[in-house]
Amino acid sequence: MRNSTLFFMVGIVLGAGLSGLAQAAAKGVPGDADKRFAQLEQMLPTPTEVRNASGAPGARYWQQRADYRIKVALDEQKHRISGSQTITYTNRSPDALTYLWLQLDQNVFKDSSISRRTEITTSTGARSMSTTAGDIVSYGTLRREQAFEDTKFGFEMGAVTGPGGKPLKVTVNDTMARVDLETPLKPGQSIVLSMSWAFNIINEAAIGGRSGYEYFPDNNTYLYFIAQWFPRLAAYTDYTGWQHKQFLGRGEFTLEFGDFDVEITVPADHVVSATGVLQNAAAVLTAEQRARLKRAETAKEPVFVVTPAEAAANEKGHATGTRTWQFKAQNVRDFGWASSRKFIWDAMGHHQEDARMPLVMAMSFYPNEAEPVWSHYSTQAVAHTLASYSRLSFPFPYPTAQSVNTWERGGMEYPMISFNGYRPSKDEKSGKVTYSSDVKYGLIGVVIHEVGHNYFPMIVNSDERQWTWMDEGLNTFLEYTAELAWEDKFPAFANKTNVLDFITDYMKSSNQVPIMTNSESVVQFGPNGYTKPTAALSVLRETVMGRELFDHAFREYANRWKFKRPTPADFFRTMEDASGVDLDWFWRGWFYGTDHVDVGVSSVREYQISSQDPEREFPLARSKFQADYPRALQEQNARAAEGAPLLERAPVLRDLYNENDEFTVTNKDRNEYKEFREKLKPWEREALDRALKASQYFYFVDFRNVGGLVTPLPLTLQFADGTVEELLIPAEIWRYDAEQVTKLFIRPKRIVSVQLDAKHQIADADVSNNQYPPRIAQSRLEVFKGKSKDKNLMLDLMTELKSAKDEPKDAGAQAPLQPVN
Ligand SMILES: [Zn+2]
Repeated sequence: MRNSTLFFMVGIVLGAGLSGLAQAAAKGVPGDADKRFAQLEQMLPTPTEVRNASGAPGARYWQQRADYRIKVALDEQKHRISGSQTITYTNRSPDALTYLWLQLDQNVFKDSSISRRTEITTSTGARSMSTTAGDIVSYGTLRREQAFEDTKFGFEMGAVTGPGGKPLKVTVNDTMARVDLETPLKPGQSIVLSMSWAFNIINEAAIGGRSGYEYFPDNNTYLYFIAQWFPRLAAYTDYTGWQHKQFLGRGEFTLEFGDFDVEITVPADHVVSATGVLQNAAAVLTAEQRARLKRAETAKEPVFVVTPAEAAANEKGHATGTRTWQFKAQNVRDFGWASSRKFIWDAMGHHQEDARMPLVMAMSFYPNEAEPVWSHYSTQAVAHTLASYSRLSFPFPYPTAQSVNTWERGGMEYPMISFNGYRPSKDEKSGKVTYSSDVKYGLIGVVIHEVGHNYFPMIVNSDERQWTWMDEGLNTFLEYTAELAWEDKFPAFANKTNVLDFITDYMKSSNQVPIMTNSESVVQFGPNGYTKPTAALSVLRETVMGRELFDHAFREYANRWKFKRPTPADFFRTMEDASGVDLDWFWRGWFYGTDHVDVGVSSVREYQISSQDPEREFPLARSKFQADYPRALQEQNARAAEGAPLLERAPVLRDLYNENDEFTVTNKDRNEYKEFREKLKPWEREALDRALKASQYFYFVDFRNVGGLVTPLPLTLQFADGTVEELLIPAEIWRYDAEQVTKLFIRPKRIVSVQLDAKHQIADADVSNNQYPPRIAQSRLEVFKGKSKDKNLMLDLMTELKSAKDEPKDAGAQAPLQPVN
C-alpha cells in the first residue's frame, strides 16, 4: 500500500544521539563497539530443517495450499456484494489440524471491531487538546461517522459446510473465524469447505480503506474496486502456527497460494478488471474489442481495448441486465477486482526472455476523469516495472499486470491487479484540464510501486501482518531503482532524487521505533516501513557491498523465496550467505536500532619523518617554535614606549647565552645522533632512510561518530597540487571504538583538505562537520516583514453583503467546533 502523506510524516529534529552515546560510553568499550559488531545469532531464530542457517528454505520446507472457486454478484443499487465459494485446503504441514482459521477482513468496519473501538483522534481526522493546535474535527470525520451511522458493515456469513454438506461450527473472533473440523485434517489430506456471505460496500472516500466504491456526481455513476471481499484462509506456518493476529488496519495480509476460478456478475454495461486471465472474452467483449486486445499483444504503445468514446457512451446509460465475467488465476495468494461502466481500457504486450511466460499483458483501466495523464503513463509504467524489477529478481511469472485508477491518491496491490490514485484537475470555470508535476510523478511512482508489489509480497510471500518492511521496504527500494531507470532527476522522494538526503530528518527524529517492529506498532509509518529500508538497501548496494555482490545476493533471496514465505532472518542470512560480507553490524544498526548516521572529521595533523640529525632538525625546530610563539605583545609595546633594552645599552652584560639558544647544535648532540644511528638495526636504518628520501607526509586524521550508527567512511582527499583521491574505509574501522578513531594516511604530497561523504552515500545527517578544515556555511536571508491583524469594526460594518454566487465553494477542511458550557 502507499499513501502519499506517508512520505511527509517526518518528525521534528532533535539532538538525541549524543546523550545516548555518552551514557553508552560510561562503561566498557567506547560507543559499545563490541555490541555494535556482535553477530546476530543470539537474536535470530534457531535454524531448522524448514528454514536453514544460510537463509534458504530447508530440506523439509513446507507451506499450505488453498484453492478457491467463487461466484460473486455486485448489486449496484444497494452497493452490496453477495457470494458463495468452495475452498479446497491442503494440509502440507507435518501437523494434524483440528480447526482452520478464516480471515474476515470486512469485519474491520463493524462498529464492534477492535479497530473501530481503538481509533484515536489523530487517526480519524479529529485531534485532541494534547497536540499543539487544540481540539479540531474535520469535515472528513463528520462524513465518516455519518457513513458508519447509516450502514452496517462487515461480513454477513451463511453456514460453513464441510464434507458431505455438513455444517461446521464457526466461532467468529473480530476479523478472524475458527472453523472446527469434525475429524482432524491429517498431513497430506485436503478438505473442501463451502460457504456463502454478503456485505455492504464502503464508500471509500468517506470511510477510507483499501477498497470500496467511488461516486461520480457528474454522471451519477459508480466505480467499484473490491478487495478483502471473500473469507480467506489464514496462513498456517512453521514459525508461528496460525497467523491470526487481528486486522487493525495497518498490518496487511498473510495468505496461502492457490488457484482461483472466479465468476463475477455485474451490470451488463460494466467493464471488469481482475486478478488473472479473462476466460469468456467472447461473452463480454465485442469482436472489435477482442481484435484490439490481440493487436495490443505486439503493439509498441498502448492500444485502446475500450476507447474513451466508448467509455463516455457507456457511462451515460444504466443497464438493467447483468453479465458474468469469468477469470482464472494460477498460483496466486489473493484475488482483487474492479468494475465500472466508466472504464477506458488500454493494453500493451510486455515481452520478456522467459520460456514459460514470454508475453505479459500490461493493462490499465480508468475513467475519463483520469485523462489525459493515464493513457499517457499508466500502462507504460506497468511494463517498465516488469522490466526493471525482473533485473533484480526473476522474470514476471503471471500473464497479466493491471493498473486501475480508483481514487485521488495512494495505491493498493493485489496479484496481477493494483488500485492506483492520481488524476488531473479540472478548472470549474473554464473546464480546462491540467495536471501538476506531483500528479505526473505521483502516478508513475504509485503504478511502479503497486505493480512492483507483485514481486514483494505477492510472489515473495512475506508475512505482512507481522513485518511491514519486508514487502514495503524491499518494494520501495525496487520502485526507487525503477524510477532512476525512468528518467534523470526523478523526484522520487518529495523533490529529492537521493533517498539518503530525504531520510536524515527522520533518522534524527525522536518518537522512533526500529524497522524490526510489528506492523501495528510502527510509528512514523512511511519513513519507518518504506523510506528507511530503501535508504538502508541503497547504502548496502552502492557503498557497503557494491553492486556486484549486492545484486547477486538480492537475486538469490528473491529466487530462493519466490512462491514461498520468508522471514526477516531468511533475508538477513541470505544476503550474507550469498555475498560473503559480514552484515550483522549493518542489520543491527539499520534494522534493530534507531541511531542515525553522523560522522565528522574532527582534526587532521600533518607530519614528516624526523631524521633526528641535529644539523637538519634543530633549525626546523627553531622555526616552528618561533611560529608557535610570536614575539610577546608586552615586549613589543615596551620597545615602542621605552626604546632599546638595557642589553643594547650595556653590551658588557652579553655572554654565550645571548649568541646561542636551546636549538644550537653541540658536539654532544652530534655524538648522540651518531650513537642513535649505530644502535639502529640494519632494517630500521633502511626504513628510516627510505622514508626520509621519499619525504612523505604523514596525516593523523581523527573521525568522530556523533550519530552512533556505525558506517563506512567515503573520503575525498584534496592535494596541494590540485589532484583528488577518493577512498572508502569499511565500517569495521569502528570495531574497537565506535565513538572516535584516528587513521594514519601516508601520501607523497601535501593534503590541503579532507572531506567525508562528498557524494551523499551514507545518509550522514549533519554534513557541517564533514570537512577539514571547515568551510563557511552559505545561504540567503530573507528580510522579515510583519503583518498587522487589527480588526477594524468601523470598516467591517461598511462592507456590502455578498450575493450567493460569490460564496466560496470550499469552506475549508475543518468543521467549526465550539465548547459546550
Ligand atoms: Zn506498498
